[in-house]
Amino acid sequence: NKQVIFKDYVNGYPKESDMVVTSDAIIRLELPKNDSGVILSKNLYLSCDPYMRGRMNKTFTGSYVPSFTPGSLISGYGVSKVLDSTHPYFKKGDLISGPSTNWEEYSLIKNTESLIKIEHTNVPISYYTGILGMPGMTAYVGLYEICSPKKGDTVFVSAASGAVGQLVGQFAKLYGCYVVGSAGSKEKVDLLKDKFGFDEAFNYKEEPDLNAALKRHFPDGIDIYFENVGGKMLDAVLVNMRVKGRIAVCGMISQYNIDQHEGIHNLAFLILNRIRMEGFLAPDYYHLYSKFLETVLPLIQEGKITYVEDIVEGLENAPAALVGLFTGKNVGKQVVAVAHE
Ligand code: NDP
Repeated sequence: NKQVIFKDYVNGYPKESDMVVTSDAIIRLELPKNDSGVILSKNLYLSCDPYMRGRMNKTFTGSYVPSFTPGSLISGYGVSKVLDSTHPYFKKGDLISGPSTNWEEYSLIKNTESLIKIEHTNVPISYYTGILGMPGMTAYVGLYEICSPKKGDTVFVSAASGAVGQLVGQFAKLYGCYVVGSAGSKEKVDLLKDKFGFDEAFNYKEEPDLNAALKRHFPDGIDIYFENVGGKMLDAVLVNMRVKGRIAVCGMISQYNIDQHEGIHNLAFLILNRIRMEGFLAPDYYHLYSKFLETVLPLIQEGKITYVEDIVEGLENAPAALVGLFTGKNVGKQVVAVAHE
């Protein structure tokens, strides 16, 4: 049973060597006798998510889940297949998804509280780590619940080609908004315009003056900013927000690996332009999950929304995939395929 072990707490940017892939751990490929409610699963897809960086810190720094324990398995959102089960609801052959999938080939799952059974299998199963999973919920609740988009609103999305951003832009377009995204390479910028239907996109790494870049794309200002990166981008956005603008603070990935967080100089614009800026956590909205599925599944099936995944094969490539999020290596939702069904 191949596994990915977290070596030790991380300072600065995470490295592949902060994790070690072992193949010598032994798991009994059968369920313990006299123990009910246990599942033996084969892990299929693992999700690489930026919040996992917070779990690599020794001290709690605002991450909403506890730190990993050095010497223990990495875990996160994932999709698995039930190989055997003594659980009354999850049966052999079921596909399941949950937030605590261990980074290993096979798992014995005793705590089944937050698992869901995958009912709709006429879409790629890996989608349950992305568009139909936590990132999808994040895009959906962040835009609808926090920003209340209206037809004609101007919307700016940072880290726009990623797991969350590509969906925020597409949802906003369906709402009749004018949408601009920023991303860190030409390939990603092309994807935003050609594949996801953003009205405009720019490479923030090639813009010496972010304020000027935003003014160019939003001469009349921004109604909605979907914040994924923080730092200098947020500061430039604040100056360009319209009166009664809304900012959904989803994440600030540019700040996750630096000790001294960048200062924001332009917060007073919140007052001047009566801007509402609100943080949110997708897990708080899981009661909306079935409504979300009902909305998004038909959009996928009718081809009204598309989703780009960056799938690496093999558990041994999982550490590189995870750390690649922080240098922008991923193009689309980063997934690790451990096995195919
Ligand atoms: P992505 O798929 O977008 O991957 C991360 C991307 O962030 C990279 O590809 C890179 O793209 C960009 N990035 C990395 N470092 C920097 C930097 N220093 N400055 C600017 N951009 C950078 O990740 P997700 O879509 O999964 O997550 C996006 C954001 O949403 C993150 O901040 C995450 O923490 C947050 N989040 C919040 C949730 C919530 O409940 N509030 C839930 C899920 C995610 P590029 O090449 O464009 O730079």
